[in-house]
Amino acid sequence: MSESSKVRCLNCLERFQIQLNVKEAMCPRCKIKYRISWPWPGQPKVRGLAK
Ligand SMILES: [Zn+2]
Repeated sequence: MSESSKVRCLNCLERFQIQLNVKEAMCPRCKIKYRISWPWPGQPKVRGLAK
């Protein structure tokens, strides 16, 4: 398993890499910050906007 995973931005649909087990990640394209959860190891899920 690699040390990073990809999530898809809900706004611009860009796929970008995030580090494993981070709680927040920012889309490099539109700079929106998301909250990330990890229902399974190595499989991130965007939970919504981070404040
Ligand atoms: Zn984006």
